[in-house]
Amino acid sequence: MKEEWVPADTLGCLMREINGLMHETTDSMNDMAGHQQNNINSIFRKGDSVYYLAFSFLFFNKSGSQLTERGAVMSKVRSVKNVWSRMIDKNKELKNVSKIHIDLIERLEKAEPSVAELNLSREEAEGKLKEGIPYLEGEEDKIELSSAVIQFRELSSWTGLGDSRSNFKKMGKKAEDMEIHHLLKAWLTGESRTIDQFGDKFHLPLDVLFVLVRYSLLPTLHEYAKEFDQTKVFNEEAWMKDYCPVCGDQHGLAEYRGSERFRHFRCLSCAGDWVFWRIACPHCDNRDHNKLSTIFIKEEKGSFQIDVCDECNGYVKGINKLDPSSPIFLLLDDFATFHLDMLAREKGYFRVPVKTGNLSKM
Ligand SMILES: [Zn+2]
Ligand SMILES: [Zn+2]
Repeated sequence: MKEEWVPADTLGCLMREINGLMHETTDSMNDMAGHQQNNINSIFRKGDSVYYLAFSFLFFNKSGSQLTERGAVMSKVRSVKNVWSRMIDKNKELKNVSKIHIDLIERLEKAEPSVAELNLSREEAEGKLKEGIPYLEGEEDKIELSSAVIQFRELSSWTGLGDSRSNFKKMGKKAEDMEIHHLLKAWLTGESRTIDQFGDKFHLPLDVLFVLVRYSLLPTLHEYAKEFDQTKVFNEEAWMKDYCPVCGDQHGLAEYRGSERFRHFRCLSCAGDWVFWRIACPHCDNRDHNKLSTIFIKEEKGSFQIDVCDECNGYVKGINKLDPSSPIFLLLDDFATFHLDMLAREKGYFRVPVKTGNLSKM
């Protein structure tokens, strides 16, 4: 394993680059005339990076089942704002990212994730895992999507949608609930034709549409992830796969935890949590340590790393953590580390889609 150390200054430069791209987005957020010049999605249209918009923040909303009172939800949003404000004190470059993020939170606090239970027997759940099948795969008909439909519509006017926002807004007004329901279901089952047709009908760029679908589904899928936890059938050492045991999506980021600094993958579609080998590439399964390296980034607070593979040019970004992040902070971590993705890309590494699991088929 090779190691490379990158000074935090380098990341500051990248953050400024991101801000340059986002500048007009935040301007327009403050502009009631609503010029449609948002550029946030231009960042994410740079190849595979579109993915990174996809996982953030719905948990800021009401994913905790106990958070049924508005007061509790509000304090959740406030605590997120407080964390951002502390982070911005240390790094002003994060301000624009935080605005987009908070805008999302506030939009999504309106819908409660409604959840029907999957109610798989212990044997059924264990049997699936044994065959490498995620908990939700094949159960798509049972997934309660009514809340996700509401959230999808609400998000259709999110300021982070970039220059396609006006088309999304029109769609948000015109699309029938049933159409949105079909779209979300198609995402879960990997039927790309339905998604393409929806995009065509409302003149929506597919990459941005993907982002919207993921955000809309996140609180709902997280409810199922909690149910999955409660089944207690999951054996981390027996899984060790590159995709989420709950929803089948690709790992979003890594947390290095515990005294052994195990590499835990976190799913940004449902907040699933599982362990993966330290010396192995999740994208191509390369285990040759001569072709694996780590780029370490030391910042004032927290330390980060990017594990890269010279076999497939894939990467995983990671954060040192004492404990698993709650969904709220998992997403915060993700939003606050877009610059790591930029750095990886700048060095020629990419996220490589995995081939297993329904969500990852997209
Ligand atoms: Zn997942
Ligand atoms: Zn690889």
